[in-house]
Amino acid sequence: MPLYDFTCRVCGRTFEAMAAMDAGEGTCLCGGSAKRLLSVGRGYRADADWLESVAVVAEKDSDKPHVQAFLADPSRANYRRWMHGEGLRPLEDGEGRRGVTTSPAVGREVLERFKTRRGSV
Ligand SMILES: [Zn+2]
Repeated sequence: MPLYDFTCRVCGRTFEAMAAMDAGEGTCLCGGSAKRLLSVGRGYRADADWLESVAVVAEKDSDKPHVQAFLADPSRANYRRWMHGEGLRPLEDGEGRRGVTTSPAVGREVLERFKTRRGSV
């Protein structure tokens, strides 16, 4: 089983633990329930590659609220706020693949903007 990062809801400790791919919950040493954190680069869910692309692009040293909110809790809601804060928007239904609001095309657009901004290829 892969390693995941968890954060305890009771004591706030962050720890690594082995967990099943679909496990969203863990148990802390204190006995409290723990929430699984986004773990970039390992144990990644195949359907969440858009999250990885944003996590890579997001400026981790930025103090912009929408960046900090996304990095602290990379949920879809915070992803949308991040997109809005960066002047992007999710694809609407009918654009790209039907019913997929966070298509890989969004990730590519974000990555292209990132490369342009950093002046690298
Ligand atoms: Zn704890």
